[in-house]
Amino acid sequence: MKIAFIGLGNMGGPMALNLKEAGHEVRGFDLSKPACEKLAADGLGIAASTADAIAGADVVISMLPASQHVESLYLGSDGKPGLMEQIPADTLVIDSSTIAAATSRKVAEAGAKRGVAVIDAPVSGGTGGAIAGTLTFMVGGSETDLERARPVLEKMGANIFHAGGAGAGQTAKICNNMLLGILMIGTSEAIALGVANGLDPKVLSEIMRRSSGGNWALEKYNPLPGVMEAAPASKGYAGGFGTDLMLKDLGLAQENAAAVRAATPLGGLARNLYAAHSLAGHGALDFSSVIKLVQARST
Ligand code: NAD
Repeated sequence: MKIAFIGLGNMGGPMALNLKEAGHEVRGFDLSKPACEKLAADGLGIAASTADAIAGADVVISMLPASQHVESLYLGSDGKPGLMEQIPADTLVIDSSTIAAATSRKVAEAGAKRGVAVIDAPVSGGTGGAIAGTLTFMVGGSETDLERARPVLEKMGANIFHAGGAGAGQTAKICNNMLLGILMIGTSEAIALGVANGLDPKVLSEIMRRSSGGNWALEKYNPLPGVMEAAPASKGYAGGFGTDLMLKDLGLAQENAAAVRAATPLGGLARNLYAAHSLAGHGALDFSSVIKLVQARST
């Protein structure tokens, strides 16, 4: 299959490489030259523009930071037409970015008018999951379009869920990330408390991992440097999932909660804690660096 892959960052880069390794003809594009150069060095075909990337493609995949990037890519901005006007009918568009459900629905509606199938397919599993091809996809769209996408998604992920119609994948994703954001802060507090009491963080983390406090942060993403070699914490919080991206997701969750009048007190608190952490200059660091907030108080 010919696949255009737009957005070759921490997640999109390894996802595109997995598709290439599975035998697909992948043409990637990113606005960032260093991102393109890195992927070209890894053997990925790089296009000169988005229009060049989508030429002749059966499937277009996007993995961009936020709603505004996806909206301007497909629907245009500042008087410039969007890509949707150039994508031929019968092409399948898979947007894996985490964005507002309303934006996903807008893109899907624009696609439907042109006979282009669109699904929202945000992911969970972090950069480790993107590299290993074990991501979880949460899909919004029709059953038929999901079945069309499945062989492609299977090359990047291990779990594929159909959450519902257009935008439902995004709703599932923000529920998950609200929980993840809260869990990372709670895990950070518990580790910082133990360390302040002289406990060895590796021993404490293992105790909690195998006890009732066990969670994904303790399994795969320990926030304290030195506990888990492969975690962003042990690499200066570089790469991974940026604090500002987590802040964006918690903001989406709060907007959604306001719209449906849901009570999300811990989600709101978590958003404010990541906002303070970002304001302190840590927006580009992996979100697990939020432990710095509580380390300063308790260690
Ligand atoms: P990233 O910032 O590393 O990569 C995004 C890339 O998109 C950048 O390289 C940027 O240059 C590029 N880009 C922006 N606008 C573009 C455009 N118009 N055309 C081409 N390229 C463009 O972000 P990421 O960590 O890869 O995350 C991507 C999405 O996946 C976000 O929505 C994020 O919330 C979500 N996500 C991230 C993780 C993670 O662990 N990093 C996990 C799950 C979901």
